[in-house]
Amino acid sequence: MTATLRRVVVACSLVLLAVAADGASASPPKLVVVLVVDQMRGDFITRYGSQWTGGLRRLADDGAWFSRAAYPYLATVTCVGHATVSTGAFPRTHGIVGNAWVDRESGRSVGCSADPRLATISYAAPAEGGQGPWRLQTATLADELRTQLPVPARVVTMSLKERTAIMLAGHRADAVTWFSIAAGGLVTSSAYTSAPVPFVAAFAKANPVSADLGKIWTRTLPAERLLFADAGRGEKPAPFWSAEFPHPLNGKDGTADAQFLEAWESSPFSDDYLGRLAIASVDALKLGQGPSTDFLGVSFSALDLVGHDFGPTSHEVQDTLVRLDRTIGALLAHLDRTVGAGNYVVAFTADHGAAPIPEQAANLGVNAGRLDAALVRQAAQTALEAVLGSGAATVRSQYGDLILEPAAAELLRRNPRAADEVLRAIKAVPGVGAAFVAEQLYTHAAAGDPDARAALLSYYPGRSGDLIVLPKPYWFFVAADGSPQPGSATTHGTMYGYDQHVPIILYGSGIKPGEYTRPVTPADIAPTLAYLCGVTLAHAEGDVLTEALAPRARTNQRGR
Ligand SMILES: [Zn+2]
Repeated sequence: MTATLRRVVVACSLVLLAVAADGASASPPKLVVVLVVDQMRGDFITRYGSQWTGGLRRLADDGAWFSRAAYPYLATVTCVGHATVSTGAFPRTHGIVGNAWVDRESGRSVGCSADPRLATISYAAPAEGGQGPWRLQTATLADELRTQLPVPARVVTMSLKERTAIMLAGHRADAVTWFSIAAGGLVTSSAYTSAPVPFVAAFAKANPVSADLGKIWTRTLPAERLLFADAGRGEKPAPFWSAEFPHPLNGKDGTADAQFLEAWESSPFSDDYLGRLAIASVDALKLGQGPSTDFLGVSFSALDLVGHDFGPTSHEVQDTLVRLDRTIGALLAHLDRTVGAGNYVVAFTADHGAAPIPEQAANLGVNAGRLDAALVRQAAQTALEAVLGSGAATVRSQYGDLILEPAAAELLRRNPRAADEVLRAIKAVPGVGAAFVAEQLYTHAAAGDPDARAALLSYYPGRSGDLIVLPKPYWFFVAADGSPQPGSATTHGTMYGYDQHVPIILYGSGIKPGEYTRPVTPADIAPTLAYLCGVTLAHAEGDVLTEALAPRARTNQRGR
């Protein structure tokens, strides 16, 4: 053996020893942590990352960062994104096509997680309404970890929003917790438990949201460390706040009323609260410290509420991230102490991005605007009456999904010239970029039309529209039907880059750090985590992100 060869052999042996000695790469993770930041655009990492020193910095520096990750579909909204992350499937498969859609039987808009058969179980004041996972058509990663592992995973998720906590968890869980303004605190659903979960009840009692009453949200960093202007053109804060810092968390009459709760959830204080609840759940259930692999999912909602009102370049968005950097840093430090560094794996991502505020884009000469869903619906209605006769059509709509009477839908399917007339009328509405009869999506997609491909990935027959309408770039729908934020400064929900591009960072057990530039999608997250945990997903459409996997020793994966 030559000296050079010997050095190579010795070096290789050392590498093998290192791999074998490193428990992280030989065993499944003890805890899977999925962190979703609502409305976090992919470019926030490069644009604002120098403002971070805590958990976001640690994930970006020491994780496997997929810098070109993007959702490939049209329906880039919250419930859809969370279902995609948790199942590894696209909406055409998991069935969650929006935050809400028009139910064809009742003709009414139904929320993605609304379930009238269920009850709210409150940790604060009593509240109405039932929420659950029944409209989700596939199992989640967490469901599979409960089902397939010899010792079922404990599953805990939390968010401000019911739909995000529910979609991250799936069909059964140990604790699924969200925040309700009506209840004035944390709640869960009879879908998951028949009584308050003791550790959540203890947390809620020891940490009432009203403890933040009277606090003032100010910038963490000096203003000169932040980019862009504080009061940007077109910002639309809630009536009790101005476009500039500071933002007080006050009630109308000095109490913790609905105005205070709305201000609180639209501030980084709510993210901080979720971070503390996450830490409390790790301690209470000893997550990641048992014989199996557990699951912790946290969806941080404040950035979405802040982003809708102040826009993606605002000081408010930047400060929300600066504070989230600390919140996530505290959570990771706690996991290091309890579960052990290298024993847990984190998947960090977002459910969608956001468009620039139209007034700011227009100021730079870009054709941008808000597209009134009612105008699109009226144009469709008028055109349908012209070609099919009056009384033929009552058009219902949810943003760009138009739902027709069954007879009208059938006539358009059989009469392509009539369909063309209706589509032409819809496309004449300023801000409309494209429109399809739903059945045409298949042929247009097969012919390579990128808009049709994106729409088809989020098309689920019976839930999506009979007509699908897409805005032009830098335009977005404002509604009309049941929109929670008809007047917001900006939003998301299109197939354009600013809505589709999100961060994906994998970190910890079994992960090889680095920047990876292959275009991937958040549907790849669940398959990758499933692979690391040794379970199978029945319906996944995403792929394992193999380039980010650390080599692992070929031992009995469950022999620990
Ligand atoms: Zn949103």
